[in-house]
Amino acid sequence: MDFQCVLCGKTYALDTPLWRCECGGAFDLVGAPLFDPQTVDASASGLWRYRATFPLAEQLTPVALGEVTTPLVEVELEGLRFYCKVEYLAPTGSFKDRGTAVLVSVLRALGVQKVVEDSSGNAGASLAAYTARAGMECTVFVPAHASPAKQAQIAAFGARLVPVPGPRENAARAVQKVAAEGAYYASHYYNPLGLFGLKTVAYEIWEQLGRRAPDNVVLPAGHGTLMLGIYRGFRDLKEAGLIARLPRLFPVQAQACAPLYEAFVRGSVEPVIVEEGATVAEGVRISRPLRGREILDAVRETKGRVLAVSDEETLAGRAALARRGLYIEPTSAVAIAALSHLRSVIRAHEVTVVPLTGSGFKSPLHQPRFQEVVRDFVRTHELHHPPETHALDLVSEVGEVAKEVLRATDYGGRPFAATSELADELGDVLYALAALSDSCGVDLERALEEALRKYEARLGATGHAGSAG
Ligand SMILES: [Zn+2]
Repeated sequence: MDFQCVLCGKTYALDTPLWRCECGGAFDLVGAPLFDPQTVDASASGLWRYRATFPLAEQLTPVALGEVTTPLVEVELEGLRFYCKVEYLAPTGSFKDRGTAVLVSVLRALGVQKVVEDSSGNAGASLAAYTARAGMECTVFVPAHASPAKQAQIAAFGARLVPVPGPRENAARAVQKVAAEGAYYASHYYNPLGLFGLKTVAYEIWEQLGRRAPDNVVLPAGHGTLMLGIYRGFRDLKEAGLIARLPRLFPVQAQACAPLYEAFVRGSVEPVIVEEGATVAEGVRISRPLRGREILDAVRETKGRVLAVSDEETLAGRAALARRGLYIEPTSAVAIAALSHLRSVIRAHEVTVVPLTGSGFKSPLHQPRFQEVVRDFVRTHELHHPPETHALDLVSEVGEVAKEVLRATDYGGRPFAATSELADELGDVLYALAALSDSCGVDLERALEEALRKYEARLGATGHAGSAG
């Protein structure tokens, strides 16, 4: 088995220190075993049932954390029935564990001891857990805006966490710099080994539906690794003569960052280059999907389509599913939100599967919305002072709200070290506010608006906001 460049076809041994071809192309893997139903290990659970399809020698002990076959739970939403594949029951709470389990098992067998990765959170948490299990060192670069719960999870596993300010793309650049200096880049999107784990979602669905493929799969897509894994898994089954046709694939993006959607509606074969806008669906905030061409090809081949939904739709989708007992993170909810766009496409008798990619515990708050409120405010009022001045002035006002919130909680009665730190960084303040206001029933949005109004009034009176008094 070798890595092979998808652009120029050059091959590399699996233990190459390179994470992509010298020509810049991504790697795929050639020479991996084919799917054979005779080799399914009926005594194993989860992805290990299909271990014979992994690029992992038979005598090696895999790095495992008790992975399970995730259930299909039938749900009805506005008259549409579909199956949720509850992927958040994976060891670290997201589907990423399937890919990571295979990737880390192979890397350990190759003798790799230190890895680096960039992630919006879930892939990083997954890699941190499996490398901890394998006794490997791990460093994860995350965008500073990543969900605090995900960042805490990464750190808890003992990985080195490096928050990188700015867009998601900056974390990718930071890790690539370190990788160029010799660290093994265990990328969940550059490294093709993880795709072997992700293919097992398709194999499992096929077994669970009584050895049948569903008609439709609707799922979130950032780099689109899950979609590619599912596509390749069903393609394996078709090539083995086990299913007659592939399910239609419906990857879903956030409107604020939708390079695949833009390409699909314009008929382009490559992803369209877009601005990376802020969205509650942080896990799909990817402006340059690595294997975008293959994803677009797969969507067209299966007669699916790419969709894009707004944050409002996403949060409504998340709430609707929670009222049916399933708690997912906003990123996962883009797929739920997209179902209402597919009313005329999905017929009543069809079998539709929606993977629930990440747990609601991963991102309990709607923090990005508040950052958006602040950004809108600065934009709307065309504030001409240097940005750092505004942030500090604004923090003073927001700090006042923070004090109100703190007074309404237990923290008012005792020293609270974080109180002074609250003023340091606007994002921290907003996050702390969101966390505290949730727990003490304060209407944060209104309180924040009030603070912003005061700021605006003072700005109107003096031409400069000054400090809070
Ligand atoms: Zn190449």
